[in-house]
Amino acid sequence: MRFDIITIFPEMFESYFSESILKRAQEKKLIKIKIHNLRDYTRDKHKTVDDTPYGGGVGMILKVEPIFSAVQKIAVSRKQQAVSSKIILLSAKGEKFDQKMARKFSKFDQIILICGRYEGVDERVAKHIADKEISIGDYILTGGELPAMIIVDAVSRLVPGVIKEQSLLEESFSIDKKFSKKGESQAMSYKPQIRKEYPQYTRPAVFKGWRVPKVLISGNHHKIKEWRNKYLTK
Ligand code: SAM
Repeated sequence: MRFDIITIFPEMFESYFSESILKRAQEKKLIKIKIHNLRDYTRDKHKTVDDTPYGGGVGMILKVEPIFSAVQKIAVSRKQQAVSSKIILLSAKGEKFDQKMARKFSKFDQIILICGRYEGVDERVAKHIADKEISIGDYILTGGELPAMIIVDAVSRLVPGVIKEQSLLEESFSIDKKFSKKGESQAMSYKPQIRKEYPQYTRPAVFKGWRVPKVLISGNHHKIKEWRNKYLTK
């Protein structure tokens, strides 16, 4: 799986993507992350990426032409390789990103992320270039770089091989397909259930009088499973 990020601040990504799980996933070639400097796709000598808004108003707007050129350049190579891909514009007014969307994206071969800045991005990018506008939450950030990192992180850990499958099975927002409600027929009750992970503890068993639930140190695996399941289906 490959991520292409278009940004005017390419250095912001270096540290986050070169640590821990994402670093190992790239070394193992399970994911590829390519950062594109939007200024490289400008044509004037000042490498202008923004301009004032039509109709007046404060702040600057990212221009459509360099974004079009960047996406076109990246898109040409993806067409040649016949890969499935999505072009995403990060935008506070977009559809809210969640684990379900992360699961869907993890099936694509390529995701192109366009990071806005300043007052935003010329609307023609959302209308004619991007497949989708995505928000990571109802608040305004200074740019799309953190949202892009969040999406790459959440999607990458769902790419097969990046994280042990067992770790993904019972974590929050995973789907329990076996869940059935008491009293309903088997056919009626086959309804996927979104989980919340059970509470986790590690040594010591007592700290400042705060105790780990007895069942977890009982060694009784059946009881532990029962106790955990209670939380998963809450
Ligand atoms: N004027 C815009 C508005 O009112 O929606 C906000 C622009 S914001 C300061 C600059 C850029 O940051 C946006 O173009 C977008 O790419 C990114 N951004 C800000 N908040 C975001 C969020 N919650 N989710 C995704 N991207 C966001």
